[in-house]
Amino acid sequence: MSEKNFNSFLKPNPRASIPPVCYKCGKEVRNNNFDTKNEFTKCMSSPPWNSGWEGKCEHCGYDYNIHYSQIVSASDFSLIKRETSVAISQMKHMDSLDTFVILSGVEMEITETHQFNSDTPTAINRKIFISTNELKYLIAALKNSPILAQYDWDVDCT
Ligand SMILES: [Zn+2]
Repeated sequence: MSEKNFNSFLKPNPRASIPPVCYKCGKEVRNNNFDTKNEFTKCMSSPPWNSGWEGKCEHCGYDYNIHYSQIVSASDFSLIKRETSVAISQMKHMDSLDTFVILSGVEMEITETHQFNSDTPTAINRKIFISTNELKYLIAALKNSPILAQYDWDVDCT
């Protein structure tokens, strides 16, 4: 658990109930009387601003969920493409008989579609949950990293 972004009902973090400001409209991303609905509403809990949020600004509708599409190959014989979505998500972990820890984060889903000639396309789909702390670490570690300076390349074996 990271103290920075953890909110316990035993020791509520006052900053956890304040939604961040939308960088499109300048208002908080949740409505004034936002609902932190979740499956533990009847339990002792102090849900943070992001509980029940679907990733869209509730004032202007800007969608913070991410969608990315990449054509890997588009020749006369094949079409290979990858579609990536990153959507706000939570993952619950039971840590005793009646207590849970809810990890905030995103679900990353990648679908890779292959179509050769006029065959029916086939798709491979993978999903993974990435916690907010893991995202923060990855973003900081990748800043100015040579990993992001990599190139793709092709090969002709005839
Ligand atoms: Zn907005």
